[in-house]
Amino acid sequence: MLTRPHTTLLLAVPFAAVTVAVVLNASRLKLHADRHRIEIAARPRPACPQCHGNGGWWTDGAFPDMEACSCWADRRELRIRLLPAPAWNEPPF
Ligand SMILES: [Zn+2]
Repeated sequence: MLTRPHTTLLLAVPFAAVTVAVVLNASRLKLHADRHRIEIAARPRPACPQCHGNGGWWTDGAFPDMEACSCWADRRELRIRLLPAPAWNEPPF
């Protein structure tokens, strides 16, 4: 049985299309989509009275660290796994 040319094209187009990652930034949500996952995550609110849209602040002390603001850090995110990530083929050293 011969393979139809349009069947090959129908298989090649989705593989070419999924290699491009798509990142869309709405005002309060960030959408990331590639062939490995689709993810919707919260972004800092620009009108937040605590972080003013920066997403957090630096703490004082001997070891300053970034403190995440609750306007985005405590919100749920949605992640749908599609294809597994490729295995690491190189030796560690
Ligand atoms: Zn905030």
